[in-house]
Amino acid sequence: MLLSGKRGMVVGVANKRSIAWAIAKKAADEGAQVALSYQNERLGDNVRELAQEIKDPLLVQMDVGSDSQIVMAFDNIRKQWDRIDFLVHAVAYAPRHALDGRFVETSREDFRVAQDISAYSLAALSRAAQPLMTDGGSIVTLSYLGSERVVPHYNVMGVAKASLEASVRYLAYDLGESNIRVNAVSVGPIKTLAASGISGFGSMLRHHRTRAPLQKDVEIEEVADAAVFLLSGMGRGITGQVIYVDGGYNIMAD
Ligand code: NAD
Repeated sequence: MLLSGKRGMVVGVANKRSIAWAIAKKAADEGAQVALSYQNERLGDNVRELAQEIKDPLLVQMDVGSDSQIVMAFDNIRKQWDRIDFLVHAVAYAPRHALDGRFVETSREDFRVAQDISAYSLAALSRAAQPLMTDGGSIVTLSYLGSERVVPHYNVMGVAKASLEASVRYLAYDLGESNIRVNAVSVGPIKTLAASGISGFGSMLRHHRTRAPLQKDVEIEEVADAAVFLLSGMGRGITGQVIYVDGGYNIMAD
């Protein structure tokens, strides 16, 4: 039980295919009590139903684009729990039309929204979580190789992931003195709701499968295992890192 006696918040469950849900389930299996946040009431029913599969879940609604909703969500958690030990940030958004065509066409507004929801939110949530992490903590976010290489159609989201990974390093520096670790797991392609918004996702999957040293699709449980390792005491010496769970795809020249 890697997370026995620990409590944490998992942000980004939309449905049973969400990476956030796989991490939440794995964390609960490893003994953690988990708070799940969902973006809006439209997703609330899904998340309430899924939450029945884990023991003693807490549920809060939170749109990470709203400072007041972030404050309210963490206040709700504080009312139930005196402390949290971990935070999982599994949130990204860019308008669908920005994930097609050419990056050079990206509008100012689409760029702003992608950065706000997909990158700035990590800093906002870390700031809100810090006072509750009185005994240290671990924060994990999810990234993608499009942050450092050009992946056709990933466009503005690649730039947002670059910003997210840089944020991981700055947050790790700031929060290290409170024994709070901050890391990213960079994941190979997995079919989820967010992925379905990326034009040509099917060919990304096929390319990955043929080029990755492990020659197979990334399994969502592999991501959950790595995230839980980083959330647990087993990862206690690791901060500010981007760890790849992609079957080794990132080491290849082509
Ligand atoms: P998903 O659609 O299941 O999860 C994305 C989540 O972001 C959803 O729960 C959605 O509600 C939430 N979200 C979007 N805007 C929000 C807002 N304003 N406030 C609160 N929540 C908001 O898809 P996923 O693939 O599980 O995505 C989780 C993370 O994993 C994302 O950061 C994504 O970029 C990353 N990732 C996914 C893949 C992949 O291939 N699926 C690969 C690498 C990284």
